[in-house]
Amino acid sequence: MTTIGPLKIAPIRGSVSEAEWHARLDLAACYRLCEHFGMSDMIYTHISARVPDSPNHFLINPNGLFFGEITASSLLKVSMEGEILYRPDLPYGLHPAGFTIHSALYRARADVMAAMHTHTIAGMAVSALKCGLLPLTQTATRFHGRIAYHDFRGPERDPAERDALATSLGSLNYCILRNHGLLTVGESMPEAFIAMWGLERACQAQLQAMACNTELEIPSPEVVAKSCAMYAPGASRRYGPLEWQGLLRRIDAIDPSWRE
Ligand SMILES: [Zn+2]
Repeated sequence: MTTIGPLKIAPIRGSVSEAEWHARLDLAACYRLCEHFGMSDMIYTHISARVPDSPNHFLINPNGLFFGEITASSLLKVSMEGEILYRPDLPYGLHPAGFTIHSALYRARADVMAAMHTHTIAGMAVSALKCGLLPLTQTATRFHGRIAYHDFRGPERDPAERDALATSLGSLNYCILRNHGLLTVGESMPEAFIAMWGLERACQAQLQAMACNTELEIPSPEVVAKSCAMYAPGASRRYGPLEWQGLLRRIDAIDPSWRE
Protein backbone atom coordinates (compact mmCIF):
# COMPACT_ATOMS: atom_id res chain seq x y z
CA MET A 1 0.00 0.00 0.00
CA THR A 2 1.39 3.41 -0.99
CA THR A 3 0.43 6.24 1.35
CA ILE A 4 0.40 9.84 0.11
CA GLY A 5 -0.85 11.97 2.99
CA PRO A 6 -4.43 10.76 3.56
CA LEU A 7 -4.46 8.93 0.20
CA LYS A 8 -3.83 5.20 -0.02
CA ILE A 9 -3.07 3.41 -3.30
CA ALA A 10 -3.34 -0.37 -3.36
CA PRO A 11 -0.58 -2.23 -5.27
CA ILE A 12 -1.89 -3.90 -8.44
CA ARG A 13 1.22 -5.63 -9.78
CA GLY A 14 -0.24 -9.11 -9.37
CA SER A 15 -3.50 -8.24 -11.10
CA VAL A 16 -2.19 -6.86 -14.42
CA SER A 17 -0.12 -8.49 -17.17
CA GLU A 18 3.69 -8.25 -17.13
CA ALA A 19 3.52 -6.07 -20.24
CA GLU A 20 1.07 -3.65 -18.61
CA TRP A 21 3.12 -3.54 -15.43
CA HIS A 22 6.27 -2.60 -17.33
CA ALA A 23 4.37 0.09 -19.21
CA ARG A 24 3.10 1.37 -15.85
CA LEU A 25 6.64 1.45 -14.45
CA ASP A 26 8.06 3.41 -17.38
CA LEU A 27 5.13 5.83 -17.35
CA ALA A 28 5.33 6.42 -13.58
CA ALA A 29 9.07 6.98 -13.99
CA CYS A 30 8.42 9.53 -16.73
CA TYR A 31 6.06 11.50 -14.47
CA ARG A 32 8.70 11.56 -11.72
CA LEU A 33 11.39 12.63 -14.24
CA CYS A 34 9.12 15.35 -15.61
CA GLU A 35 8.71 16.72 -12.09
CA HIS A 36 12.40 16.29 -11.21
CA PHE A 37 13.59 18.21 -14.27
CA GLY A 38 11.12 21.08 -13.83
CA MET A 39 8.87 20.23 -16.78
CA SER A 40 5.64 19.66 -14.83
CA ASP A 41 2.75 22.11 -14.41
CA MET A 42 1.26 21.05 -11.04
CA ILE A 43 -1.51 18.57 -11.89
CA TYR A 44 -1.94 19.90 -15.44
CA THR A 45 -0.71 18.26 -18.66
CA HIS A 46 -0.50 14.53 -19.21
CA ILE A 47 1.90 11.76 -20.13
CA SER A 48 0.51 8.44 -21.33
CA ALA A 49 1.45 4.96 -22.53
CA ARG A 50 -0.38 2.44 -24.65
CA VAL A 51 -0.93 -0.94 -22.96
CA PRO A 52 1.33 -3.18 -25.12
CA ASP A 53 -0.81 -6.32 -24.95
CA SER A 54 -4.10 -4.45 -25.11
CA PRO A 55 -3.49 -1.79 -27.79
CA ASN A 56 -6.94 -0.20 -27.61
CA HIS A 57 -6.25 0.83 -24.02
CA PHE A 58 -3.83 3.36 -22.61
CA LEU A 59 -2.56 4.49 -19.20
CA ILE A 60 -2.75 8.10 -18.00
CA ASN A 61 -2.57 10.03 -14.73
CA PRO A 62 -5.54 10.46 -12.40
CA ASN A 63 -6.34 14.16 -12.52
CA GLY A 64 -5.36 15.38 -9.06
CA LEU A 65 -2.04 13.71 -8.21
CA PHE A 66 1.07 15.85 -8.57
CA PHE A 67 3.59 14.29 -10.95
CA GLY A 68 5.98 13.62 -8.04
CA GLU A 69 3.24 11.51 -6.38
CA ILE A 70 2.50 9.21 -9.33
CA THR A 71 3.13 5.49 -8.82
CA ALA A 72 2.79 2.56 -11.22
CA SER A 73 -0.40 1.42 -9.44
CA SER A 74 -2.00 4.88 -9.43
CA LEU A 75 -2.39 5.21 -13.20
CA LEU A 76 -5.80 5.02 -14.86
CA LYS A 77 -6.40 2.53 -17.67
CA VAL A 78 -8.83 3.90 -20.26
CA SER A 79 -10.24 2.88 -23.62
CA MET A 80 -10.17 4.97 -26.82
CA GLU A 81 -13.84 5.74 -26.11
CA GLY A 82 -13.08 7.17 -22.68
CA GLU A 83 -14.27 4.23 -20.61
CA ILE A 84 -12.23 3.91 -17.41
CA LEU A 85 -11.19 0.25 -17.09
CA TYR A 86 -9.07 0.67 -13.99
CA ARG A 87 -9.14 3.48 -11.50
CA PRO A 88 -7.35 3.44 -8.15
CA ASP A 89 -9.32 4.23 -5.00
CA LEU A 90 -8.68 7.95 -5.29
CA PRO A 91 -11.06 10.90 -5.57
CA TYR A 92 -9.59 11.68 -9.00
CA GLY A 93 -10.75 10.81 -12.51
CA LEU A 94 -9.92 11.29 -16.16
CA HIS A 95 -9.21 14.82 -17.41
CA PRO A 96 -11.22 15.50 -20.60
CA ALA A 97 -8.45 17.41 -22.41
CA GLY A 98 -5.91 14.74 -21.48
CA PHE A 99 -8.20 12.08 -22.85
CA THR A 100 -8.84 14.04 -26.06
CA ILE A 101 -5.18 14.67 -26.86
CA HIS A 102 -3.81 11.26 -25.95
CA SER A 103 -6.61 9.13 -27.40
CA ALA A 104 -6.21 11.10 -30.65
CA LEU A 105 -2.58 10.01 -30.89
CA TYR A 106 -3.17 6.31 -30.18
CA ARG A 107 -6.19 6.12 -32.46
CA ALA A 108 -4.35 7.67 -35.38
CA ARG A 109 -0.91 6.08 -35.03
CA ALA A 110 -0.43 2.35 -34.37
CA ASP A 111 3.32 2.96 -33.96
CA VAL A 112 2.84 5.36 -31.04
CA MET A 113 3.36 3.63 -27.70
CA ALA A 114 3.96 6.68 -25.51
CA ALA A 115 3.16 10.38 -25.53
CA MET A 116 4.31 13.33 -23.44
CA HIS A 117 2.83 16.83 -23.30
CA THR A 118 4.21 19.80 -21.35
CA HIS A 119 3.36 23.40 -20.51
CA THR A 120 6.87 24.58 -19.69
CA ILE A 121 7.53 28.32 -19.87
CA ALA A 122 10.02 27.83 -22.71
CA GLY A 123 7.68 25.52 -24.59
CA MET A 124 4.72 27.88 -24.24
CA ALA A 125 6.86 30.86 -25.24
CA VAL A 126 8.20 29.24 -28.42
CA SER A 127 4.66 28.03 -29.18
CA ALA A 128 3.65 31.70 -29.25
CA LEU A 129 6.39 32.76 -31.72
CA LYS A 130 5.36 32.97 -35.37
CA CYS A 131 8.83 31.69 -36.35
CA GLY A 132 8.44 28.59 -34.19
CA LEU A 133 11.58 26.62 -33.34
CA LEU A 134 14.64 27.89 -35.23
CA PRO A 135 17.73 25.76 -36.04
CA LEU A 136 19.92 27.94 -33.83
CA THR A 137 21.67 25.15 -31.93
CA GLN A 138 22.91 21.64 -32.61
CA THR A 139 20.10 20.37 -30.36
CA ALA A 140 17.48 22.29 -32.35
CA THR A 141 18.71 20.86 -35.66
CA ARG A 142 17.60 17.43 -34.45
CA PHE A 143 14.03 18.70 -34.78
CA HIS A 144 14.43 20.78 -37.93
CA GLY A 145 11.78 19.84 -40.48
CA ARG A 146 10.45 17.18 -38.14
CA ILE A 147 8.08 19.31 -36.06
CA ALA A 148 4.36 19.57 -36.64
CA TYR A 149 2.49 22.72 -35.65
CA HIS A 150 -1.08 22.55 -34.41
CA ASP A 151 -3.11 25.76 -34.16
CA PHE A 152 -4.81 26.71 -30.92
CA ARG A 153 -8.63 26.64 -30.92
CA GLY A 154 -9.19 26.54 -27.17
CA PRO A 155 -8.67 23.68 -24.71
CA GLU A 156 -8.90 20.30 -26.46
CA ARG A 157 -12.13 18.97 -25.03
CA ASP A 158 -14.13 18.59 -28.23
CA PRO A 159 -13.91 15.02 -29.63
CA ALA A 160 -13.70 16.57 -33.13
CA GLU A 161 -10.37 18.02 -32.07
CA ARG A 162 -8.93 14.51 -32.12
CA ASP A 163 -9.01 14.28 -35.90
CA ALA A 164 -7.58 17.79 -36.27
CA LEU A 165 -4.65 16.97 -33.98
CA ALA A 166 -4.00 13.66 -35.77
CA THR A 167 -3.99 15.50 -39.10
CA SER A 168 -1.56 18.13 -37.81
CA LEU A 169 0.84 15.52 -36.43
CA GLY A 170 0.71 13.25 -39.48
CA SER A 171 3.63 10.83 -39.31
CA LEU A 172 5.84 13.17 -37.25
CA ASN A 173 6.85 12.56 -33.64
CA TYR A 174 7.20 16.13 -32.37
CA CYS A 175 4.56 18.84 -32.24
CA ILE A 176 4.36 22.41 -31.08
CA LEU A 177 0.80 23.09 -29.96
CA ARG A 178 0.61 26.77 -30.83
CA ASN A 179 -0.12 29.07 -27.88
CA HIS A 180 -0.19 26.01 -25.66
CA GLY A 181 2.92 23.81 -25.28
CA LEU A 182 4.98 20.88 -26.52
CA LEU A 183 4.09 17.32 -27.48
CA THR A 184 6.28 14.32 -28.29
CA VAL A 185 5.38 10.73 -29.15
CA GLY A 186 7.53 7.64 -29.51
CA GLU A 187 7.70 3.90 -29.89
CA SER A 188 8.62 3.78 -26.20
CA MET A 189 8.42 5.98 -23.11
CA PRO A 190 12.20 6.57 -23.10
CA GLU A 191 12.03 7.80 -26.71
CA ALA A 192 9.18 10.21 -25.99
CA PHE A 193 10.94 11.53 -22.87
CA ILE A 194 14.36 12.03 -24.48
CA ALA A 195 12.72 13.80 -27.41
CA MET A 196 10.95 16.13 -24.97
CA TRP A 197 14.21 16.71 -23.11
CA GLY A 198 15.90 17.85 -26.33
CA LEU A 199 12.95 19.88 -27.56
CA GLU A 200 12.63 21.65 -24.22
CA ARG A 201 16.30 22.57 -24.13
CA ALA A 202 16.23 23.75 -27.76
CA CYS A 203 13.33 26.06 -26.83
CA GLN A 204 15.15 27.36 -23.75
CA ALA A 205 18.32 28.07 -25.74
CA GLN A 206 16.41 29.85 -28.52
CA LEU A 207 14.62 32.14 -26.08
CA GLN A 208 17.80 33.03 -24.23
CA ALA A 209 19.62 33.78 -27.50
CA MET A 210 16.70 35.87 -28.84
CA ALA A 211 16.59 37.83 -25.57
CA CYS A 212 20.18 39.06 -25.94
CA ASN A 213 19.39 41.93 -28.32
CA THR A 214 22.27 41.08 -30.62
CA GLU A 215 22.44 39.51 -34.06
CA LEU A 216 21.91 35.76 -34.11
CA GLU A 217 24.35 33.38 -35.79
CA ILE A 218 22.17 30.98 -37.77
CA PRO A 219 23.99 28.01 -39.35
CA SER A 220 23.85 27.87 -43.17
CA PRO A 221 21.08 25.76 -44.73
CA GLU A 222 23.76 23.24 -45.79
CA VAL A 223 25.04 22.84 -42.24
CA VAL A 224 21.50 22.61 -40.83
CA ALA A 225 20.64 19.94 -43.40
CA LYS A 226 23.82 17.97 -42.61
CA SER A 227 23.22 18.10 -38.86
CA CYS A 228 19.54 17.28 -39.30
CA ALA A 229 20.44 14.25 -41.44
CA MET A 230 22.77 12.95 -38.75
CA TYR A 231 19.80 12.88 -36.37
CA ALA A 232 17.54 11.10 -38.88
CA PRO A 233 15.92 7.86 -37.68
CA GLY A 234 18.33 5.04 -38.43
CA ALA A 235 21.30 7.37 -38.94
CA SER A 236 22.40 7.10 -35.31
CA ARG A 237 21.53 5.04 -32.25
CA ARG A 238 17.97 5.23 -30.94
CA TYR A 239 17.70 7.98 -28.38
CA GLY A 240 16.18 6.85 -25.09
CA PRO A 241 17.22 3.32 -24.09
CA LEU A 242 20.81 4.24 -23.16
CA GLU A 243 19.77 7.30 -21.16
CA TRP A 244 16.78 5.62 -19.49
CA GLN A 245 18.72 3.37 -17.09
CA GLY A 246 20.66 6.34 -15.74
CA LEU A 247 17.44 8.32 -15.42
CA LEU A 248 15.86 5.50 -13.41
CA ARG A 249 18.90 5.43 -11.12
CA ARG A 250 18.44 9.18 -10.62
CA ILE A 251 14.82 8.95 -9.47
CA ASP A 252 15.44 5.76 -7.47
CA ALA A 253 18.03 7.67 -5.46
CA ILE A 254 15.46 10.37 -4.69
CA ASP A 255 12.36 8.27 -3.96
CA PRO A 256 11.76 4.75 -5.34
CA SER A 257 8.04 4.76 -4.47
CA TRP A 258 7.17 5.26 -8.17
CA ARG A 259 7.82 1.52 -8.53
CA GLU A 260 4.86 0.62 -6.27
ZN1 LIG B 1 -2.02 21.13 -22.41
